[in-house]
Amino acid sequence: MPGTGPAELEASAVSAWFGSRKVLDRVSLTMPAGRVTALIGPSGCGKSTFLRTLNRMHELIPGAALAGEVLLDGEDVYAPGRRLTEARRDIGMVFQKPNPFPAMSIYDNVVAGLKLTGVRASRSTKDRLVEECLTRAGLWKEVRDRLRQPGGALSGGQQQRLCIARSLAVRPRVLLMDEPCSALDPTSTRRVEETIQELAGEVTVVIVTHNMQQAARVSDRCAFFLAEQGTPGVIVEHGPTEAVFNRPQDQRTADYVNGRF
Ligand code: ADP
Ligand code: MG
Repeated sequence: MPGTGPAELEASAVSAWFGSRKVLDRVSLTMPAGRVTALIGPSGCGKSTFLRTLNRMHELIPGAALAGEVLLDGEDVYAPGRRLTEARRDIGMVFQKPNPFPAMSIYDNVVAGLKLTGVRASRSTKDRLVEECLTRAGLWKEVRDRLRQPGGALSGGQQQRLCIARSLAVRPRVLLMDEPCSALDPTSTRRVEETIQELAGEVTVVIVTHNMQQAARVSDRCAFFLAEQGTPGVIVEHGPTEAVFNRPQDQRTADYVNGRF
């Protein structure tokens, strides 16, 4: 039964390794249902790795290992009986580089993930879903007359919004976004931010961003990651975004959010 609304995601003492190298050390974070949580911090501190532990993508990397627990509304994402496809369906992911299926039509891109849901949708159901998801992704007006054109023909910003629409079509409970705007122009960035703000309440969003203004604009909560001098990444500080930005408790957080490193 896909899609039962936004879910809380809770990571407890998540550690991650690549081979013998530990890159995350006992990271714990609650990402409240229907809220936007921003992950910030310098490159290489483990933000992307942390995201991949949340929807079980980390385990697909050869040599990668993991410890700790990830709970989706209290249910263990890593429970032995729980299938990988289930985690993927409940917890969608959007990447830095837009990755639509380039030769597939815009329409087919949106419905491409439906087989994950195990539901065979009728043509009219798909039509409605395509319009709904493209609308939520802020792309419908731009593409409604060209749904049969290949996804690869769209601009970068449009491709990213197509990827968001594709993620939404399986009715995920959580959407992970890894620097979704880093490859986009300012107009597309604004559109994606509007989409994130509209998704709030309907989906739990976890977004990695290097753009502090963006984190301040779109997120309710914020976690600052840091990996100092070859040590594994940890969360130095987390809390309501407004507090992390305006009243940081740790000097390193203050330095980072004020652009001092
Ligand atoms: P961030 O997203 O914060 O920039 P990453 O999670 O990508 O950080 O990387 C954390 C650490 O793990 C880095 O030191 C990086 O070099 C290493 N790393 C990331 N991916 C891999 C991989 N596939 N194999 C080996 N090391 C990796
Ligand atoms: Mg990254």
